[in-house]
Amino acid sequence: MDTIDKANADYERWLNGKIKQRQTTPANDITECLDCGEPIGEKRKQAVPYAVRCVACVACQSEFERGK
Ligand SMILES: [Zn+2]
Repeated sequence: MDTIDKANADYERWLNGKIKQRQTTPANDITECLDCGEPIGEKRKQAVPYAVRCVACVACQSEFERGK
């Protein structure tokens, strides 16, 4: 296995870990936006404990859902 293969394997392992983390972490424990990776914000988590996206991404999402 050369260096590039090893790097790819590491990356895939990391990626799989990330995906698994997202699938197994309860929404209440997610503190970073699933879309942009920015912190969701403590106040928002207190107001909406199951929020998994930051305010900005939720705004984008609702615009998208309105068919903009
Ligand atoms: Zn976001």
